[in-house]
Amino acid sequence: MISVSNQLINIYFQEYLNLKDFPEISLKREDQIHPFVSGNKFRKLKYNLKAVKDQNRHTLLTFGGAFSNHIAATASAGREYGIQTIGIIRGEELEDKIDKNPTLAFAKAQGMQLQFISREKYKLKDTPDILKYFKKCFGDFYLLPEGGTNSLAVKGCEEILTPQDTIFDYICVPVGTGGTMAGIVNSSKPHQRIVGFSALKGNFLEKEIKKWTTKTNWEITDAFCFGGYAKVNEELVDFINEFKTKTNIALDPIYTGKMLYGIFELAKSGFFPKNSRILAIHTGGLQGIQGMNLQLKKKNLPLIEI
Ligand SMILES: *Cc1c(COP(=O)(O)O)cnc(C)c1O
Repeated sequence: MISVSNQLINIYFQEYLNLKDFPEISLKREDQIHPFVSGNKFRKLKYNLKAVKDQNRHTLLTFGGAFSNHIAATASAGREYGIQTIGIIRGEELEDKIDKNPTLAFAKAQGMQLQFISREKYKLKDTPDILKYFKKCFGDFYLLPEGGTNSLAVKGCEEILTPQDTIFDYICVPVGTGGTMAGIVNSSKPHQRIVGFSALKGNFLEKEIKKWTTKTNWEITDAFCFGGYAKVNEELVDFINEFKTKTNIALDPIYTGKMLYGIFELAKSGFFPKNSRILAIHTGGLQGIQGMNLQLKKKNLPLIEI
């Protein structure tokens, strides 16, 4: 049984917004679950790793981009559980830049076998033909989709909320593929509303969530994605740095930073009724900061303080 603490952060909230009767907000520190297997990725991998063992298999193959938290987490968990991991990485050009990419260098050091493919081929990653091709290259493997979302991942994420969390009226969570949010929706109570903060532009994620849940006490907004996946600007970086200074809690720039920024904006606009209690899920992702800082440096933008 893993226990993760909920940390009250509304002192900062009140100060930031200069509001006295601001909703109470707590942060579930899933980022502290494991030193390398980041927050929600740990939840998503748990039953999948068990399945690999139960099926007597030895290799797990999955997909991801250059700075993928999922790739880093899978590599580390594979090593810990004695499972060989193969990462199919988007972008052939990365092949001879592994050492310059903190995520890929970490995955490699954890023993993950990295295979780089072109962006065109990567788009075909879910087709039977390419899977046949990978079987030919690597032999038998357990397949985990990009981002690690499948029914066992959703099952793992159903364990994020605990009975003590029923006191909260709102649960806020960042959304990539939607697996984490779906798990939280599944284990939520009818009086709770789940608000997803999309890291991507567009409303296609609603369809994804509906694949995994029949409940309707949820909504997703892409209003705080800062233009799209992995896009950041100075305002977001400043927010993340200020939050860290005030609370001593690090946020990542792709998911949790945007979610907290969004929660603050929604709170200012009166979205949360007076006296409501909010639980925000810190899903981790801190390994991505280093890689993001390399990008920020290139663009002459301020860096995220680690
Ligand atoms: C992957 C990830 C998410 C998104 O999870 P999904 O289940 O794909 O929606 C959110 N936060 C962090 C830190 C992540 O690494």
